[in-house]
Amino acid sequence: MKRIGVLTSGGDSPGMNAAVRAVVRKAIYHNVEIYGIFGGYAGLISGNIKKLELGSVGDIIHRGGTILYSARCEEFRTKEGQQKGIEQLKKHGIEGLVVIGGDGSYRGAKALTEQGFPCSGVPGTIDNDIEGTQFTIGFDTALNTVIDAIDKIRDTATSHERTFIIEVMGRNAGDIALWSGLAGGAETILIPEENYNMDEIASRLMKGHERGKKHSIIIVAEGVSSGMEFAKELEEATNFDTRVSVLGHMQRGGSPTAFDRVLASRLGARAVELLLEGKGGRAVGIVNNQVVDHDIIDILDKEHVIDMDLYKLSKELSI
Ligand code: ADP
Repeated sequence: MKRIGVLTSGGDSPGMNAAVRAVVRKAIYHNVEIYGIFGGYAGLISGNIKKLELGSVGDIIHRGGTILYSARCEEFRTKEGQQKGIEQLKKHGIEGLVVIGGDGSYRGAKALTEQGFPCSGVPGTIDNDIEGTQFTIGFDTALNTVIDAIDKIRDTATSHERTFIIEVMGRNAGDIALWSGLAGGAETILIPEENYNMDEIASRLMKGHERGKKHSIIIVAEGVSSGMEFAKELEEATNFDTRVSVLGHMQRGGSPTAFDRVLASRLGARAVELLLEGKGGRAVGIVNNQVVDHDIIDILDKEHVIDMDLYKLSKELSI
């Protein structure tokens, strides 16, 4: 391959820029030309494609968001849309594509590969909901944003002796809730992978209250319920005065942590290598600190699995 492309797609995540930088620099290191596709699959269809140089990715490793922009594109779900994308790639002489994004973006990469255009998938999402990797790019940064918020809310919860409910992102996965709840010392963590029992939660909170515990922090994953709805239910069950914080999009932004930058650098570079080795349709990931790759179809077929041992531990430590 003499020329490859790179795009970011779907929800952005901190560390996507570090991944773009790694893709660009690794390609140029191997004397391969690299083209940026701006605006995800929408930009691919419309031909928003420009050559990138070493300097194009200077000064971005520490920045959140993505310099390539991201978009959601309904047209790309259709075969006609995908064909338009392939035509644009061919027109620019591009022979392989690195797709940085989440589950939906991987489906686009799979569709292109199945139509004969080789792609590599790089897991960029704060949700940590992609199989074949223990961590996705942006998850660690999002966790640090959430625990910063939990720590601050804890100060107020302590002063005012209140029960705080913090709603966090994660789509259908409970990883952000679980990891941030454990790291933030939350009393209760609600994840979509496990049904919750209001009687049990209420009785735990009341027992804590009787022991002299005056405040509690409850983390609710957005895939379980809205924080407001859960608060209403909890107030009915306990009569406790509750407050709700919905952290929202702040979780998607910010300067990536060192962990996410290193992860993005390793995975972005590997994605380029795979294309140069002639391997299309692979998704890169990190397992036991080793960079690995899997068939993108297998990844998409698998249900995301949360670390239930960690969940069990969080329950044991929050008695
Ligand atoms: P994420 O990649 O963060 O999961 P989305 O689910 O919104 O985000 O997907 C991003 C984009 O990927 C979509 O807007 C669409 O262009 C493309 N995409 C999603 N699903 C498919 C699919 N089944 N086939 C082709 N392209 C898809």
